Amino acid sequence: MGPRIEALGIKGYRSIDGLIRIRFPKTDPLVIFGENNAGKSNILRALDLIFGESWPGNYKPEDHEFFGRLAEGNAIKIYAKVSGLACSKCDGTVQELHWQYDPDAEKVCDFYCVATCDHTYVTNEVRRDLFAMTVGVRRDLSWQLSYNSKWTTLSKLMRRFHDRLVSDPVRVERLKVEYATLVSIFQEVSEFAEFSSGLRSAVEDFGGNLRYGAGGRLLGVRRVELLQVAPRLSSLQRRAPHL
Ligand SMILES: [Zn+2]
Repeated sequence: MGPRIEALGIKGYRSIDGLIRIRFPKTDPLVIFGENNAGKSNILRALDLIFGESWPGNYKPEDHEFFGRLAEGNAIKIYAKVSGLACSKCDGTVQELHWQYDPDAEKVCDFYCVATCDHTYVTNEVRRDLFAMTVGVRRDLSWQLSYNSKWTTLSKLMRRFHDRLVSDPVRVERLKVEYATLVSIFQEVSEFAEFSSGLRSAVEDFGGNLRYGAGGRLLGVRRVELLQVAPRLSSLQRRAPHL
């Protein structure tokens, strides 16, 4: 079973005063119901705060995010009990993630994990593996299903998919063979062959113009190359509008 959130604990956050603990069912969806302003959204906000798009490690809450709308003397604590989550640095298992903001503490904002090993720093890999999506907070489903940021659900899903896809070297070799076959079929179309060689020479021109050459840094300049090639592409399209 993949990584999952077992329980969420919240204290001193928005309308939530004392510690509340929400257990996530193993197989069924969790349904939260309550009157307006009962605090349902605040639970989602807490979830979004530690697992959402923004890195919580240096998040500074507004006054109204503290219980009683007052930061002084009030600390916010949010934690999640997790399972199936590997430490990204060793064979250990991450058991809990904690985020707290205590204006009176020495370390005001603290974001850390509790694990079977000694690693307490929450890495990007660990957060990525948890993959929580809190659409309800901002009702931004269409944004989550776009590639607008590397933190959207679709981007995270594709990255995970890609990681799994290339985790097997034999499969990578098979893909390379299939890809070469595809390219050779494309090359049979003269317009594509022309475009492809135009692209290659533009890349070489561009690489040659760079002071240090583009050899080792092709990834970094690829976007610029495509911009450079764009006029050629549009003239190609004028000549071959079916492309
Ligand atoms: Zn570790």
